[in-house]
This record gives sequence, structure tokens and C-alpha cells, in this order.
Amino acid sequence: MEDCIFCKIARGEIGKLVYEDEAVAAFDDLNPQAPVHVLIVPKKHIARLCDVATDEDACLVGDIMRVANKIAADRGIADEGYRVVVNCNEGAGQSVWHVHFHLLGGRKLGWPPG
Ligand code: AMP
Ligand code: ZN
Repeated sequence: MEDCIFCKIARGEIGKLVYEDEAVAAFDDLNPQAPVHVLIVPKKHIARLCDVATDEDACLVGDIMRVANKIAADRGIADEGYRVVVNCNEGAGQSVWHVHFHLLGGRKLGWPPG
């Protein structure tokens, strides 16, 4: 996807990655909602969580959750608690059309979310 901003970040063309492996990339959110707010994405362009349908994509989601756990531990929020959120479609607040997992922590997180 030539003009997808998160594809460009995941390829290392713009911004700064805080984590990268063969299939997954992570970077700090531009507009953080918590002291730790990292976005974790597949390098492969998948627009929305609801587009995850194949076994391969499901494995990718598992890999992303493992990366979320690692970053949470690295940032020192694993024990106090953290949240992983995916907004799917406009009604849930999705505004960038490359699936991304928000890792949030470093403050008390309210429930239910807004
Ligand atoms: P969502 O509303 O769930 O689609 O989340 C999109 C997130 O991407 C928001 O938290 C934005 O602050 C963040 N964002 C948008 N553009 C960038 C960017 N260039 N670099 C880092 N984060 C971004
Ligand atoms: Zn993309």
C-alpha cells in the first residue's frame, strides 16, 4: 500500500520504530493517551481487525499480542497493568486504515472505556 502511513512507518521510511521483527513493527503514538501508548502493527497491510480471516493473519495477531507483552515488560508496566485495544471501524473510533493495536499503560485506566 503505497500511501498508507502505517505501512510507511512499518517499513522504516518515516518516524521511529521502538520494536521490529520480520512481521511486526511498533512505534509510539503521535498523540499519547497514557504515559505508555505504543501502536503495534503487522508489516503486512491489513485494513481492519475484521479483515483478519486467514490462519496466517490469526497467527500474526498472536505475534502482535506477544510483542505487546514484551513491550509492556520493557516499559515497566507489566505488573501494574496495561490494556491492548483495537478500534475496528468508524463507530469504534478507527481513524487509520491499517490495523493497529494500542498498548496503553502507566496510569490507572478506567472501565468501561468511552
Ligand atoms: P485509531 O483512532 O484507533 O485508528 O488510532 C489511530 C492512532 O494513530 C491515534 O492514536 C493517533 O494518535 C495515531 N497516529 C496517527 N498518525 C500517526 C503517526 N504518523 N505516528 C504515530 N501515531 C499516529
Ligand atoms: Zn498499511
